[in-house]
Amino acid sequence: MSRAELEEFFLSLGEPKYRSTQVFKAVHERRLVSFEEITDLPKKLRAKLEESAAISRLAVESRYVSTDGTRRYLMKTADGYPVETVFIPTENRDTICFSSQSGCPLKCDFCLTAKLGLLRNLTVGEIVEQVIIVLNDVYGVAGETPHGTNLVGMGAGEPFLNFDNLIAALEIMADEDGLFIVPNRVTVSTAGIVPRIYDLAKLENRPHLAISLSTANDELRDRLMPINKKWDLDELMTAAKEFEGSLRRGERFTFEYVMLGGVNDRDSDANELVRLLEKYQLKKVKINLIPHNGAEQLDYNASTAERVSRFKSLLESNGVDAYVRQPRGRDIYAACGQLAAKSEANSAAMN
Ligand code: SF4
Repeated sequence: MSRAELEEFFLSLGEPKYRSTQVFKAVHERRLVSFEEITDLPKKLRAKLEESAAISRLAVESRYVSTDGTRRYLMKTADGYPVETVFIPTENRDTICFSSQSGCPLKCDFCLTAKLGLLRNLTVGEIVEQVIIVLNDVYGVAGETPHGTNLVGMGAGEPFLNFDNLIAALEIMADEDGLFIVPNRVTVSTAGIVPRIYDLAKLENRPHLAISLSTANDELRDRLMPINKKWDLDELMTAAKEFEGSLRRGERFTFEYVMLGGVNDRDSDANELVRLLEKYQLKKVKINLIPHNGAEQLDYNASTAERVSRFKSLLESNGVDAYVRQPRGRDIYAACGQLAAKSEANSAAMN
């Protein structure tokens, strides 16, 4: 519930408005997981809340811990749908990669989540709770987070097909009485839902935008990311240009490029990408190269390290900023494109 919804809820119970602030802080700032623990509420009210409401709707089914510290969580909604979330620690900050849908309706050819199809959109609460569960697991319930947490909406699902819930969840997580993860620390990635890119361009408080591009060639993109048949590169790049025009100080805008060995990582692919960026005069965008992680059920190979490095220098020599995202949590199938790969226990599993 948003602050306003929570207020209304308490008024409907005949309780004063300030109870909503107490509960909001307890759930989001202190990350308490049951009404019983909110001891600043009268006992009678706690009992009433236990009967009429729930703090948690997600259950952690399994947790996998990588040798590099990355953690992957398989959760389940109250009605039985799978949700995956990944915790990625680095020296100075943590990143939590959350899902916006259970499964995904888009059919990106290099992604395992695509095999599930869309199961359903996640609710606002289910998006927020993923973050709370991860923080509680890593730092303990009501524990302090030692450094700021960044969020990326790059887990399962296409966030822009669940746009309203996504934006509502981000607003709740940005609240300074709660998790206080401001939009500047959030990046959301879309496969190219063009109308929502225009919507995001108009938003006052918004996350950073990443567009998953993966090729500058329409024919190949139709195959790799069939959403391209609905909104082709011209429509996508026109929207990207409009978005670039709306960028404010400190905002990041990236194109993600999943590198698939021998498919989209040749010199000619890099040159085509440079030409595409030139055609639409996109000057502020950075390219995030993501070497594919491979999976038994997918017919793609990772690009070699030499290829990735050659591709990057070709972009850079043409004035395009590019960086390579180091894969994390490969051993627990937590890396890009691998979600939904393995739900059975493996050697790194800890239930
Ligand atoms: S890459 Fe993202 S948008 Fe594409 S199928 Fe996978 S989860 Fe969906």
